[in-house]
Amino acid sequence: MLEYQAENDALKDKVILVTGAGAGIGRTAALTYAAHGATVILLGRSTNKLEAVYDEIVASGAPEPAIVPLDMKGATEQNYRDLAVTLEEQFGRLDGLLLNASVLGALTPFDQIDSEMFNEVMQVNVTANFLMAKSLMPVLRLAEHGSIVFTSSGVGRTGRAYWGPYAISKFATEGMMETLADELAGSTLRANCINPGATRTKMRATAFPAEDPQNLKTPEDLMPLYLYLMSDDSVAVNGQSLDAQPKR
Ligand code: NDP
Repeated sequence: MLEYQAENDALKDKVILVTGAGAGIGRTAALTYAAHGATVILLGRSTNKLEAVYDEIVASGAPEPAIVPLDMKGATEQNYRDLAVTLEEQFGRLDGLLLNASVLGALTPFDQIDSEMFNEVMQVNVTANFLMAKSLMPVLRLAEHGSIVFTSSGVGRTGRAYWGPYAISKFATEGMMETLADELAGSTLRANCINPGATRTKMRATAFPAEDPQNLKTPEDLMPLYLYLMSDDSVAVNGQSLDAQPKR
């Protein structure tokens, strides 16, 4: 996947929403999509970070993005329905949805998992993504080829000691993608997962504080797969969970 080379205008005229667009992988994906011609909707909880990405995109001469400040921890189904209405009014459709934002929660032995923290991780990583995907499907169906990309993890495929709620939420993400993709087969809409692999971001540094970040891939290194799944080169790809990095 890392070999995929997108044309400079691969995403021209596409409207793509990125969650968690203010930092880490989501920030880089938003900048990369804009650089390839997309109008990007920047969704996240820290408006100042979204504004910085907005300014960077405008300064680059790429299509003007839009900002949607939303905390997925407290957002309701109505918030996502309202978002769908706004997107249809302003853009007429949504071509791509990158469900990237997640929280790590605490890494802890199973019998010490705090139930409030468990619920919070599930709320952001699973329920909010479900509500967003569900509510935005009508506007995604207005696109010629719509792409929903979920974000998984290695611990969403093989459980790992102490990764508790985060790992459970990523198994749920894989299951959500597979269930949805099976329903979408043969339609104009497709759903897939990306497993970014170990990547130099704040989340990774929180999970592995002793690790040297210089040894890790950067978000930029992952972008071939992020571009591929949003471009029309992947219209036939549905129900796949793909690795952005070769197995280490
Ligand atoms: P970061 O923690 O660096 O960035 C996460 C982004 O999500 C931030 O912009 C953050 O906003 C946003 N976010 C968090 N909570 C909410 C919320 N409640 N509402 C709205 N936005 C929110 O994570 P990464 O970039 O590392 O991770 C991106 C994705 O990749 C995640 O799904 C993660 O699970 C996955 N992943 C990452 C790996 C890695 O090694 N980095 C490995 C495997 C998977 P704010 O900046 O305001 O905090």
